[in-house]
Amino acid sequence: MKKKIEILFSNLCCSQCKSGFDENSIDIKREEAGLTVTHLECRRCGKKFGIAFIGFSGLEVKEPLEVQEGPEPINYDDVIDAHRFIRELDEHWQEHLPKNIF
Ligand SMILES: [Zn+2]
Repeated sequence: MKKKIEILFSNLCCSQCKSGFDENSIDIKREEAGLTVTHLECRRCGKKFGIAFIGFSGLEVKEPLEVQEGPEPINYDDVIDAHRFIRELDEHWQEHLPKNIF
């Protein structure tokens, strides 16, 4: 699973130092069926990118559904909120993505 997440972030780079992300940049906080919650941090300059909720369909990687800055640690309510958020997504879900991150 972590390998897939690494691939997902592999075409992104740190907005601060332009360093790419690798497996060490990704910290999996929670894994559930169809949803993985990860914390992303630049290993070079230490910039934190907050929590990312990533939805998976089967073994296929979709797109990061939401990236947000947030205090840690996440709690169970956060995961429920993410489930609810993802369930209500429609074909315009990409509009929910923060523009400054991608
Ligand atoms: Zn950086």
